Amino acid sequence: MWAVLFILALAAATAIHLFWRQKFRRRQRQIQAEMEQFQREQQQTVSDARAQQQVLFNSMLEGLLLLDRNRRIYLANRAFKNLFGLKIELRGKTVMEVLRLHELAGLIERVETEKQVLDYEWKLPELSGRWLQVNAAVITNAAGEREGTILVFHDLTRLKQLERTREEFVANVSHELRTPLSLIKGYAETLLDGARNDPEIAARFLKIIERNAQRLDLLIQDLLTISALESGRLRLNPQPIHVRAVAEKVLSDLKSRAAGRGVTLINELPDLTATADENRLEQVLANLVDNAIKYGRAGGAVTVGGRPAENSQVEIFVRDDGPGIPPESLGRVFERFYRADKARSREQGGTGLGLSIVKHIVQNHGGAVWVESAPGKGATFFFTLPKG
Ligand code: ADP
Repeated sequence: MWAVLFILALAAATAIHLFWRQKFRRRQRQIQAEMEQFQREQQQTVSDARAQQQVLFNSMLEGLLLLDRNRRIYLANRAFKNLFGLKIELRGKTVMEVLRLHELAGLIERVETEKQVLDYEWKLPELSGRWLQVNAAVITNAAGEREGTILVFHDLTRLKQLERTREEFVANVSHELRTPLSLIKGYAETLLDGARNDPEIAARFLKIIERNAQRLDLLIQDLLTISALESGRLRLNPQPIHVRAVAEKVLSDLKSRAAGRGVTLINELPDLTATADENRLEQVLANLVDNAIKYGRAGGAVTVGGRPAENSQVEIFVRDDGPGIPPESLGRVFERFYRADKARSREQGGTGLGLSIVKHIVQNHGGAVWVESAPGKGATFFFTLPKG
C-alpha cells in the first residue's frame, strides 16, 4: 500500500517537474526571442537615425566636415565633396590625405587652440579662384574635453563676383561722370578768369559747357534706365505692335542725324506683328539705328529689316555698311561701358550703355540679341521678340 502511494507520489512529482521545466524552457525561449526582437528594433532605430542624419546633412547647401579627436574625417556631406571635387570615401582619412590644402590644415589647428573661428574667408588656390567662407568650432563632451571639430563651408564665389561687378560699375560711372564734369568746371573757370570778356571765345566755351551738360544728362538717363531694367522696376506693357510702323517713326526721327553724315535710311521690314512694349521697342531700334549712323560709313546706308522666325518669334535686324566690329570685341559690345572704338564713341558723345540697354529690354521681352560682323563688311545687329 505505502509502496503504491510512494510510486504514485513520485510519478506525480516527476510529471509536475516535467511540466514546469517545459514551461520554464518555453518562457526562456520567449524571453530570448523578445530580446532579439528588441535588439533588432534598436539596430533599426540607430540605422534609421543615421540615414535621416545623412539625408539632412546631404541636403545642406553648405559643405559640412566633422573630424574626430584624432583629426580624422568622421563625416563629410555631399556639398563638401562637391565643393572640393572629391568622389572617394573620406571617412577615417585626414584632411591632408584627401586635399593637401595647408591653409585648411592650419585652420583646423587654429580652431583647436581658439575653440572657434568665425567668418574665415579663404580663396582656394587650385579651384579657379573660388572663394569660401568657413565657420569652425571644437566639439566638447560634458567634461569639456575635445571630442572633435566641426567645419561649415559656404561658397562665396558668386557674392564676390557681384561685389567686384558693383565696384567696377561704381568706378566706371565715376570715370564717365568725371570727364564731362571736369570740362564744364575747366571752361567755367576760364570764363570767370576773363574769357567772358571776349564774346566770341565766351560763346564757344559756353557751347562746350552746354554739350558736356547734355552728355551728363544723357549718361544719367541711361544709368537710371539700366538700373530700372536690372532691378525689374521697369514695367513692360506688351501689346501686339506693327514693327514696320515703329521703325518708320524711328527712322524719321533720326533723318536729320543721318543726313548729317550723308547716310541713307532704308526700311525693308515686311508687315510683322510682335508682342512688345511700344516705347521700349522704339528705344531698341533708336539705339541700334543711331549706332549704325554713328559707327557706319559716312555716305553709306542703314537698313532695318526682319522676318518671321521659329518658335513663334519675329527676327528684326539693323544693318550698316561701315567698318564693322573687330572679332575680339564682338562678344563684348553688349557689356556696360564697353567700347570697341573708344575715341569714336567719345567723339560721338556715346555713353557706352546703349547696347547694354538694348540687351536688357530685349531679354525682358523674352527675346535674344546678337551681332554679326566682319572687319570692313559692316555690322548687323539682330534681335527677336515674341510674335504678336
Ligand atoms: P556707345 O554709347 O559707345 O555707342 P553702345 O553700347 O551703343 O555705346 O555701343 C558699344 C560699342 O559698340 C560702341 O562704342 C562701338 O565701339 C561699338 N558699336 C556699336 N554699334 C556699332 C556698329 N554699328 N558698327 C561698329 N561698331 C559698333
